[in-house]
Amino acid sequence: MVSRVIPVDPFDLVIFGGTGDLARRKIYPGLFRRFCSGQIGPETRFIGAARTELDNKGYRKFVADAINEFYPEAANSRKKLNAFLKLISYILVDALGETGWDQLADIADADRVQAFYFSVAPRLFGDLAKRLHKHGLAEDNCRIVVEKPFGRDLESARELNRVLARHFGEHQIYRIDHYLGKETVQNLMAIRFGNMLFEPLWNSQYVDHIQITVAESVGVGGRGDYYDRSGAMRDMMQNHLMQLLCLIAMEPPAKFNPDAVRDEKLKVIRALDPVGMDDIVRGQYEGTGDRAGYRIQVGNRDSTTESFVALRANISNWRWAGTPFYLRTGKRLRDRASEIAVVFKDAPHSIFDEDAGRHRNILTIKLQPNEGIELGVTIKEPGPGGMRLIDVPLDMSFAEALGPEEADFPDAYERLIMDVIRGNQTLFMRGDEVEAAWAWTDPVIAEWETLGDEPLPYVTGGSGPDEALMLMHRDGRRWREIKA
Ligand code: NAP
Repeated sequence: MVSRVIPVDPFDLVIFGGTGDLARRKIYPGLFRRFCSGQIGPETRFIGAARTELDNKGYRKFVADAINEFYPEAANSRKKLNAFLKLISYILVDALGETGWDQLADIADADRVQAFYFSVAPRLFGDLAKRLHKHGLAEDNCRIVVEKPFGRDLESARELNRVLARHFGEHQIYRIDHYLGKETVQNLMAIRFGNMLFEPLWNSQYVDHIQITVAESVGVGGRGDYYDRSGAMRDMMQNHLMQLLCLIAMEPPAKFNPDAVRDEKLKVIRALDPVGMDDIVRGQYEGTGDRAGYRIQVGNRDSTTESFVALRANISNWRWAGTPFYLRTGKRLRDRASEIAVVFKDAPHSIFDEDAGRHRNILTIKLQPNEGIELGVTIKEPGPGGMRLIDVPLDMSFAEALGPEEADFPDAYERLIMDVIRGNQTLFMRGDEVEAAWAWTDPVIAEWETLGDEPLPYVTGGSGPDEALMLMHRDGRRWREIKA
């Protein structure tokens, strides 16, 4: 199979925060890969913008170092890297002052797509939007890409939406959630809506429950300061897990276009019941030495911020009434493993005797570390010994099904940036979606604050607090093992 790379017209991408961590680790290595694939041509321009004193030469070295570090395969394509670096320049810009803005306006080319990536701290988003507008850089060919977090509660998200809307139309605003850029997440829609096989079973009559797990094995690392003001509920549940929940639970949109998809996602969020305190567990990892506990890592011995959260969500609509969704995410867990598991109900009647065992179909959509889809089916155990049943996976691991080259698909960031250039907002969150997600999250956080709730301790390298296991045990179910 030969993959089709469709080149895009030359465009300009200004990366505010062009000297930052995200630009180094994700944005430039991703752009380089798209350049190598032929999708980005030699007339495109990338402009790094930040306050650090650098000339073009110094900035290109910064970018080359980043690519070599985070995309080591680049060492094999020295010529390509040099050609890529020629597309890059640097402008010293202050989001909070006048420095650099005239220069940015001078080089702007009204005849091509101009994208502005806000890869800076969220407190600067409003200032950037305001100054872009003031300098004539908010015209219809201009788009802004806004990083997470988008607010820290409903009120701040609303305010941010209002500020951005003063200067840009909703069709120009791309709120990024990199989980939506994953190949498998899009495949989830292809599986659901491109096959006759699954959709008739995709409801509470046939689905017992759905589990969504986003587990990390690392701790807060260098982000302790930010994380301690945020926590797992704000940092992961409100956005990434919520988005996955929407895609798995939404009704089929009439068309695969941005508003049709986002309308359906919004309906899911609005149909979510409020989460009661009995249906949610929060935890904080403990540890010493090499595997220091959360409080040590963030330097706050009284911190009550959660590094783990597990909850049971109910969607009150015709499709899902009676099918619970169990969601969990946390740091310092056994493995880095993210997946969605759709657990189907037992067959209504077993024709086999008890020895055959009880079996269920499970459709697993794996997101991390490897992407793929697996369907567990029940078959007869081969060989003599009568009718004994076993579960075997029908494995649709992309690397095996498509061959390693085909499975080497774009990283989430590069895919999403290309969608920005193509003007496709399907995989970006709309303002009302983000607000609805906060409206569901806020009361939980408010209640924890009112109760003075302390997160439950859990050991590093495990699967979270025991109480999280109980959340499912009491319903006669159990979490799947966290396994990469
Ligand atoms: P970072 O490493 O702290 O970089 C911040 C960038 O902002 C630097 O390039 C800094 O450059 C620039 N900056 C600061 N003040 C500025 C000003 N007044 N005017 C112009 N530029 C200014 O942050 P990051 O980790 O790259 O994160 C950037 C954004 O992405 C944040 O919203 C973050 O939440 C989000 N994000 C990051 C990651 C990640 O993996 N890093 C993941 C998800 C989301 P100068 O100091 O040179 O001005």
